[in-house]
This record gives sequence, structure tokens and C-alpha cells, in this order.
Amino acid sequence: MARVYNFSAGPSTLPESVLRIAADEMLDYQGSGQSVMEMSHRSKTYDAIIKECEALLREVMNIPSNYKVLFLQGGASSQFGMIPLNLMNGSGKADFNITGQWANKAYQESARYGEAHIVASSKDKTFSYIPAWKAEDFTEDADFVHICVNNTIYGTRFTELPETGNVPLIGDISSCALSEPIDVSKFGMLYAGAQKNMGPAGLTVVIIREDLIGNARDITPTMFNYKTHADNDSMFNTPPCYAIYICKLVLEWIKNEIGGLENMKEINEKKAAVLYDFLDSSEMFKGTVEKKDRSLMNVPFVTGNEELDAKFVKEAAAAGFINLKGHRSVGGMRASIYNAMPIEGVEKLVAFMKAFEENNK
Ligand SMILES: *Cc1c(COP(=O)(O)O)cnc(C)c1O
Repeated sequence: MARVYNFSAGPSTLPESVLRIAADEMLDYQGSGQSVMEMSHRSKTYDAIIKECEALLREVMNIPSNYKVLFLQGGASSQFGMIPLNLMNGSGKADFNITGQWANKAYQESARYGEAHIVASSKDKTFSYIPAWKAEDFTEDADFVHICVNNTIYGTRFTELPETGNVPLIGDISSCALSEPIDVSKFGMLYAGAQKNMGPAGLTVVIIREDLIGNARDITPTMFNYKTHADNDSMFNTPPCYAIYICKLVLEWIKNEIGGLENMKEINEKKAAVLYDFLDSSEMFKGTVEKKDRSLMNVPFVTGNEELDAKFVKEAAAAGFINLKGHRSVGGMRASIYNAMPIEGVEKLVAFMKAFEENNK
């Protein structure tokens, strides 16, 4: 069976070698006589899997020891609510940079619990750039500042982090986790839905500085309190066992086959350049984002003609390049080229785009 090149924004393509290991171990995980899917999460065998996943994540991301790693459920979207419940508990104020739909959703959810401030926004130009903000823009006594580090829908990313002083910076890294090194110590908290770059859907990873845990509002449900999960090593209830196992395999792939996040970044930069260079030279296809803010992971582009866009998406799918339709709020196309997308996939896509342009002049 031929595998397609899957440009889905999420859930998304996984490294083939990871899928092969999972297939090999499906019926009998390392002599245990069971699938990881069937295993008690309290068993010794499973305990080793979740511990190894955390250890690998700490190693690969260089997570300082005063940060907890939590393996949760509910998606990044649940974090939009957990963040204010747990952290909007001093002044009750928080600052937001609205760089797209996800950032806006985080803002809206916080606004239900406290004073959420929009400090910057790129809504005026359909979120096609990262808006600048200055130190004096921030609320001095805010409980946190929130950014969406990579904007999955619009294809922008922060290349410079804001200086927030003592105010904890919170980053949504759902669509850029593990794509390049990130200085965890610059953040109070990072979080990601795993289904873009870390594994399958069902797992949400939270990396949070220890001093930020334990101040949740009284109304916070037990399951939404970071302390509950921190105190129980993500085993307060049944964790998303199988997704954590696949995440562990993805981390092993990054560590052993790729050679770490510096190498991952280099590969991702090369891969993205193949597509961006073509977009910059094409008469038909155009990128939609300001060059300096271009994402390495999500590349939106348009022809400027909706019918032609639709024709392209259809013909591309028939040729084995699937999920290239842009988000419904932007239209056009979007190629999500996460870690697991091989560079050949992008090279072949570009060759297909060139031929399409030639044939549709
Ligand atoms: C996909 C995505 C989300 C939503 O994630 P869910 O796990 O579906 O809740 C939030 N933020 C960003 C940046 C995303 O890419």
C-alpha cells in the first residue's frame, strides 16, 4: 500500500519508523503478552513507558528541573480554561497578543474569569504578521502574558519572545513543539495538544514552573487543577496511555534518528525553504504571510482565484498530496509540514505545483 503525503494541520503525519515500531509491538509489547492499549496504567511495564516519555521530553527540550511535565487530556482548548482557573489568581489580570484564532480563544476564555487585556493584535491584516509590542504596553501587575508561539491557521510564528519581567509568559506551542529548540526558562508555562508534532490526538502536554502550581481558584474542579496532576505524576486518573507511548516513540525518533532539536530545526528550515522559495518565485502561487514572521510548520498560500484553488486541492489529492485545503477562515491552501513530513514530500509537492502552474496558465 502506498502512503500519501499528508499535509493535515492536525492530527497529522507521524514518522513512518514510529508507526512501524507501534505495529510490531501492537499485539505483544516487549514480551508482556499485551498491547500497550490494554495495559493497566498502574502496571510496572506502563510505569516505565510514562517515566521514559517524561525523561526523554526533559532531555530533548532541555527542561529545567524546577518545571513539572504533565500529561493531560482535553486538548490545548482545555488549557484555555485551566490557565485562568489556576493562574489568574493574583491581580486577576492577564495580557494577550491576538495573533490568530487560537490566541483569541485563549483570550476569550480568560476574559470569563478576570480582566483579560488585548495588548496587541494582527486582526487588521487577517493575522498575516506578528504585531510588535513594547515593554510599556504590558499590564504591570498581570498574572501572566499569553502568546500562541506558532499560529497554525495563519502560518506565522514568534521569532522573538517578549520581555515580560517577573510576569510569567505562557506559550501555546501546539503546532511547533519539538520543531526547534525553545528556551523553556523564558516561560512560566508551555502547553501543546500532541496531535500536531508530538504524537496522536488525546494527549495534552503541559510544562509548568513549580512555583506557579498550587494557587488555583477554589472553584477549580479537581481534574482542572495542575496541582492534582503534579502531585500524582499525571496518574491521578487514567492518563492517555497509548498516546503517551507513541509520544515516547516520537521522542526516541527525534533523539536517535534526527539527533535532537538543533538538527530538527535545520531540517525544518531547509524543508520550509523549499516551499517558500518556490512561492516567492511563482507567478501563480503566493504566500499570505509577512516574510519575517513565516512559520516553519504551517504554510498558507493562495492563487488569488478560488476556482483555481479548488482545482488545485482536488488534483493534488488525486496525486497523493492530501489535506491541502486552507482553513475555512482563510481559504486557499495550507501545507502543514511538521517534523514527520519528509523533505521529499515537500520537494514532490513543489514539483506538482510547478506542473500545475504550467498546465493552467
Ligand atoms: C490545534 C491547536 C489548538 C487546539 O488544540 P486541541 O487539542 O484541538 O484543543 C490550540 N492551539 C493551537 C496553536 C493549535 O494549533
